[in-house]
Amino acid sequence: MSHTIELKKVSKYYAANDTVSMGFSRLDLDLDMGEFVAITGESGSGKSTLLNVISGLDSYEEGEMFVFGEDTTAFTTEDYERYRKTYIGNIFQDFNLVNSYSVYKNIELVMLLGGKKKKECRDRVNELIELVGLKEFADTKASKLSGGQKQRVAIARALAKDAPIIVADEPTGNLDSESASAVMETLAKVSRDRLVVIVTHNYEQAEPYVTRKITMHDGRIIEDRNVREKGVVSTEVEAPKEMKKGSEIRLGLRNTFNIPAKFILLFIVYLFVATAVLGQYASTKSSLHQNDLLGYSNYFLNTDPARIVVTKEDLTEFTDEDIAKISATENIGTVVRNDLAIDKGGTLNISGAYVEGPVYPIEEADKSKISYGKMPETEREVIISVNPASDTYLNVNDMKDKLIGQKAHITSLDGEEKLTDEKVVVAGIILDDTADKNLSYSGYSKIYVSDEVSKEILTGMMASSSKSLINYAGTKVSNDYSRTVYVSKNVPKGQVYIPETQAYYYDNGNAEGKTLKIKISNKYYSAIGKYTVGKVVNEKNIKESLGIKKDNYDNYTSAIFVSPADFSKLFERDTFQVSAFMQNEKLSDDTLEALKENGFRTLLVKDTLSDVTGGFDFVMELLAFGLLVIELIVLFFIAYAVIKLIMKSRNSYYSTLRILGASKKNTDSILRIELVFMVLMAYAVDIVAVVLVKEGVITSPQVTELLDFLIVPDYVVLAVILVAMSLLIANRYSRKIFSSSAMKTFKEEV
Ligand code: ADP
Ligand code: MG
Repeated sequence: MSHTIELKKVSKYYAANDTVSMGFSRLDLDLDMGEFVAITGESGSGKSTLLNVISGLDSYEEGEMFVFGEDTTAFTTEDYERYRKTYIGNIFQDFNLVNSYSVYKNIELVMLLGGKKKKECRDRVNELIELVGLKEFADTKASKLSGGQKQRVAIARALAKDAPIIVADEPTGNLDSESASAVMETLAKVSRDRLVVIVTHNYEQAEPYVTRKITMHDGRIIEDRNVREKGVVSTEVEAPKEMKKGSEIRLGLRNTFNIPAKFILLFIVYLFVATAVLGQYASTKSSLHQNDLLGYSNYFLNTDPARIVVTKEDLTEFTDEDIAKISATENIGTVVRNDLAIDKGGTLNISGAYVEGPVYPIEEADKSKISYGKMPETEREVIISVNPASDTYLNVNDMKDKLIGQKAHITSLDGEEKLTDEKVVVAGIILDDTADKNLSYSGYSKIYVSDEVSKEILTGMMASSSKSLINYAGTKVSNDYSRTVYVSKNVPKGQVYIPETQAYYYDNGNAEGKTLKIKISNKYYSAIGKYTVGKVVNEKNIKESLGIKKDNYDNYTSAIFVSPADFSKLFERDTFQVSAFMQNEKLSDDTLEALKENGFRTLLVKDTLSDVTGGFDFVMELLAFGLLVIELIVLFFIAYAVIKLIMKSRNSYYSTLRILGASKKNTDSILRIELVFMVLMAYAVDIVAVVLVKEGVITSPQVTELLDFLIVPDYVVLAVILVAMSLLIANRYSRKIFSSSAMKTFKEEV
């Protein structure tokens, strides 16, 4: 029958610097179950070295060692790990307890590592606590115990593992003689069906209990004798089980909180990391968004990033219900019916200050930005907004007080055509110092007008962009290039006034009382009007008939003048396209989606902006993301460095776990759970802060502005990034812990 442990000519050398020193040399030794062996001898004789080789904490250089018949010569690190886990219960002179754990938890720890469930441990742990006489101290933290008490915990822990071999290096070295005897007695008791090997330089203390005495000198055994009958032999060894997942989670969570100072430090670091990641992510989205706003549009003059052009799915006219539906859509602020008008540039010539730019719905004017004057109270009142990038700015700024209350027509950009039926009044001025970020229209000023005025402009715009075909009682003349139809309050309904030049299309120039038919057409529709010529105007009577200066007569030679009612009939159309303005332009994706679901076609005007980066938009995006990744990597290394420092206090904990038989996989999981749990808690605090900012409990305009860029999926992405970072930190740290052998870790720690 093979021995429990069998050494054949085993030697152990230590190589340090250039010298090699001998631990012990060519030892032959058999050890069996039931024995309680004391190894004694003077200091430096090799006792500890022998014990370390037996317990698999150290390898050997020569000879062969068999354990339960298994040859250990070719053992790898993993083999030794398994060996220690299966066979060895270790009692260290320096205890190697987890100081922040209670007595109970220290003992329970090895059982959890050995694959027991928490419930299964309870009875056995209590039994062992009683066995070593520490019943009243079960819930006391290990750091609060005396040396003797700690040693008894270490013994209980070694027994809890239920290993067949118990080894102890000077187990009573730190104890008074009374405790020492108690410890010896306990060891003697447990050695009845185990193999217990202790090292002691105080043999007298052990003598009453041991079954065998081995004396060493200078790396050799000089005495080996049995002093007492050995115990009952049993060689049944149960293979150790894998640690339960639940136990790993339990330990990970326990470790998160068990040292308050460490918890607080780590939490602060993780809070910093989570907040920094959140901030970087949001500002990347913000800069991508700003990038999106660069460029100009070939189709729209008003390229407000909040503007969505909406038509119905079937391109029919909008009903009031449709408009209400759009207004009720989440994130939609104002809906402008006279959509086309807001792409019409207008000029307001007031006292020589030419305010030029797109017409905006008055609802879009920001009351808080008004620098002079007030918000409009009547339909004819307007607000002008000037941008520092335009020449008008200085002009307007100089004359600001004079401009309020001034009346003028809004004319076409070249000043040639009136776009309004009646003059508008300047009610307020915005000196818009923040406008230059939207470069596409930064050169323009803005004119905020009422719905009524924008409708007039739209109608005027239709008139100037329509082609016409006029039938002068049989003579047809077409005009495709300039505006034909003008409105005048002086013309009665059903009549037209025409200049002298056109009267010649009629017989003998007798136009008055004759019919005039007109067909107008534009890209949206065509319409027909039938009138009687009421008056023929010439240079002399044009002022009196139509209120137009005589000098301007030449501009109107191909014009016909109709009444306001007839003008409306020709050019005022129902709404078939509207513009919806978003409250938060950053949420355009969701808003477009919602509109589509309600059966509308949408066009985000911002998307029609030409690309100022010359096709490098994609590269810009890539750069922004690249930058974000670099920032995250830098943050990762900073966080790792700090966390490594904080976790230094954990090093001894992890080496203890390892010495107690935890595999790399176990410690990895325990560490990961702790760090992931930590980062999730920090992130949760951030999320609470985000909610408080959004709810207005915390007010910070800059933060609110940034957070506007983030939607729910972003928060999920962020959580994934943070968990990934935490896992990487855990992996790196655990690789560091495991870069040295268990023994080295152990020796460095003690
Ligand atoms: P004991 O436990 O009997 O006092 P050790 O086993 O600790 O003796 O030491 C035996 C011999 O091995 C001594 O000469 C000691 O100097 C040497 N030794 C022990 N550990 C090391 C080590 N880590 N490096 C180099 N030499 C060592
Ligand atoms: Mg020693």
